[in-house]
Amino acid sequence: MTDRTQPWLEWPGFASVVAALGADNIRVVGGAVRDAWLGLPVSDVDLATVLLPDQVIKRLQAKHLKALPTGIAHGTITAVADHHSFEITTLRRDVATDGRHADVAFTDSWQTDAARRDFTINALYMDCAGKIYDYFGGLDDLKTGRVRFIDDATKRIEEDALRIMRFFRFNARFGAADLDAAGLAACARQANHLMALSRERIRDELLKMLAVLDPVPTIEVMITHGIFKPFLPEVHSASGLHKLIEAEHRLDDIAVLRRLFVLLPRSAAICEDVALRLKFSLKERQRLVAMAGEELCAVAPDPHTIRKLIYQLGRERFIDQLILRTPSKELYEQAQAWDIPKLPIKGGDLIANGVAAGPDVSRILALIENDWIDADFPDGKAILVDMARVYIKNHKE
Ligand code: ATP
Ligand code: MG
Repeated sequence: MTDRTQPWLEWPGFASVVAALGADNIRVVGGAVRDAWLGLPVSDVDLATVLLPDQVIKRLQAKHLKALPTGIAHGTITAVADHHSFEITTLRRDVATDGRHADVAFTDSWQTDAARRDFTINALYMDCAGKIYDYFGGLDDLKTGRVRFIDDATKRIEEDALRIMRFFRFNARFGAADLDAAGLAACARQANHLMALSRERIRDELLKMLAVLDPVPTIEVMITHGIFKPFLPEVHSASGLHKLIEAEHRLDDIAVLRRLFVLLPRSAAICEDVALRLKFSLKERQRLVAMAGEELCAVAPDPHTIRKLIYQLGRERFIDQLILRTPSKELYEQAQAWDIPKLPIKGGDLIANGVAAGPDVSRILALIENDWIDADFPDGKAILVDMARVYIKNHKE
């Protein structure tokens, strides 16, 4: 039977890792304990241990488990057992912090390790017998939806400004209506510290926050308190996001990039700028910029025109524009169901019909493709070769 409070007990590999390290030496920590306690799905577990990193490696290897030094500078080893990976971090405290990085010292005190974590709800530990260790009242805060910094909020943000973004992200996920006043005030006062962080770290936290069921109330608080100003001054209102989320839930299709898009002024140039600033991949940048496109607004929604647009934009961009502008369920379902055809003719077919290899092949192919699209994607090579003959003839004359 699955144990809802310790789903990891059933995971392949978990028992081997426990056997290798010794049940008394490890506890599950952080998000996994928090989410399992709430009855939410858990997809990965972090383990904390009193063992030093080299002992962790030796013990894993002695049982023929893979030990990867993924974060060795901070005491983290990733164990791989039965194709499942587990991050194992030696208990530590942060010695010196400069707002971005921390030097660490290992300790054998669970409470010291708990104290370096960001929020009370993220400092829960569970041992292998299922006992929870809650050093800062995290369970009470979970019950009341309170995201509370461990110790003084201002000091904790000075140590690491990313905690500002995390404060809002965890509020968006677990928070009740009113945010912890001291935490919120400290975040607002120190929002400028976000500028010292790498854009990638801010982006990752921002996207995780946008992915929650309904981030609107949290985003509104962030706007009111000037949190976006240092890195996304373009964000002024969450009203577009509210509308989008309704459509996304109705169509059961959520995309964080679309959620970001509606927070920005509708402009391809701004999308480009934001994507570069937040270091998105080329693919993500192109997708964000394409959301500003007006192609779907300009067409009549007859089935052929819609197919044409899906073919030209690609399904993902078409659906983005659809959900952002006219989120009709019928059109959405059509777009998902249509099997996008491939042009049934290739350059080789033209060459076989007398076109010399070279730039004429792709030029004529493009002309044929246009006719093929206008003819609503007829199937079969023969029709296309017939269509091609006209161009080939003209080309030769
Ligand atoms: P999620 O389900 O979103 O992954 P999580 O709680 O596992 O939530 P992670 O970002 O994976 O969050 O971090 C794992 C744990 O490490 C946190 O629960 C917290 O205890 C600690 N932690 C992570 N980032 C920080 C930070 N910037 N400052 C202090 N503690 C942190
Ligand atoms: Mg996590």
